[in-house]
Amino acid sequence: MNRIYLDYAATTPVDKSVLKAMLPYFSQKFGNPMSIHSFGYEGEAAVEKSRKITADFLHCLPDEVIFTSGATESNNLAIKGFSKKYHFSQPGKKHFIPHIITTAFEHHCVLNSVKFLEESGQAEVTYLPVYKDGIVRVEDVKNAIRDNTRFISIMYVNNEIGTVQPIEKIGKLIKDINKIQSRLGGTEFKILFHTDATQAINYFNCDVQKLGVDLLSLSGHKFYGPKGIGALYVKKGSFIKRIQDGGDQEFGMRAGTHNVPGIVGLAEALAGIKTQSRGFGTKIKIMTSLRDYLISRVLKEIPEVKLNGSKKFRSPNNANFSLANVEGESLILSLNREGIACSTGSACSTGSLEPSHVLLALGLPPEEAHGSLRVSLGKDTTRKEIEVFIEKLKKVVKKLRNISGNVLKEYK
Ligand code: PMP
Repeated sequence: MNRIYLDYAATTPVDKSVLKAMLPYFSQKFGNPMSIHSFGYEGEAAVEKSRKITADFLHCLPDEVIFTSGATESNNLAIKGFSKKYHFSQPGKKHFIPHIITTAFEHHCVLNSVKFLEESGQAEVTYLPVYKDGIVRVEDVKNAIRDNTRFISIMYVNNEIGTVQPIEKIGKLIKDINKIQSRLGGTEFKILFHTDATQAINYFNCDVQKLGVDLLSLSGHKFYGPKGIGALYVKKGSFIKRIQDGGDQEFGMRAGTHNVPGIVGLAEALAGIKTQSRGFGTKIKIMTSLRDYLISRVLKEIPEVKLNGSKKFRSPNNANFSLANVEGESLILSLNREGIACSTGSACSTGSLEPSHVLLALGLPPEEAHGSLRVSLGKDTTRKEIEVFIEKLKKVVKKLRNISGNVLKEYK
């Protein structure tokens, strides 16, 4: 059976050019970048070249790029690294608990990191609403800021519903507040702004100067790079401390032997976004019209379906629906039997029967949050694939609704 992959928000295949760039670093050029011999120098040169490419992509300095194992680690390092620095910098002194602002629909690696700080008494946390359209309001961020606010973490693009947050506007707001605060009381009052840009890298401008962020997380496998590699942009002078003890790699911010092939692959994938006009060129236009075609046909041809999240402020690759009287997991398994790969909720929570926290944050009742379908397109997705998908979806939904209708009748 011909399989159709429509789960590119979960992960993407490694590009041919990326694989080619990585291969020598598994065997021929295997040196540890920390070693002071020619094998080590080869590894070090590759890491530093990759750091420069990553920095150019983000429009920052090379030593503001910390390579990690992925966005999960980057987000943990940003949030817990801030808290560690904050509490360590005032040992023995009576100091106030910092206040963190985030949103209710962040990825679990952000949500659970701030929850950990909250539950262990290291931070007070405000979880901002995201409304029916899945967009955080700049005004809400402004109103939530208190005297002790020191950290704000808001994702760029939501991984389940693909909605795009006004990061640049929030960045400007925080910059203005920091300016006023620093006039009043010095740098101690600075609020750090972090964004999880994992789902944005492929499609949106991630120039950290333009966005006005102090910290930005990304993960290689979401943009045709390898898995197990990521990065955290840390603006010079940011108030964070390492959270993993060990060697002095990554400017002392992230201990552990470098994943050289991964780092090379990540940089090559980032370079590909620009050179193949995948990120800002015609492919995005094609993808957007394909997505809109998919959305309009599903809404028109399948009864009792809703699109979740704003249609306008949405990633070009994402469509997320709620289907009445269909259970999400059954839908994914039935589509899989038809050769179609999609997801319900986020891939990380597949296997759990909890309703999606993202859809609950949008105000959906739990039964609707259970019946969701995320379809995410890739750079090579074709119209033919979308057409096959729609026909299979119609067939599967009809079948599942018949079964659940019959079960309900038997119980009446
Ligand atoms: N943040 C977002 C928005 C994501 O989509 C993901 C991946 N699902 C992550 C963080 C975690 O990335 P990784 O699993 O590569 O560490």
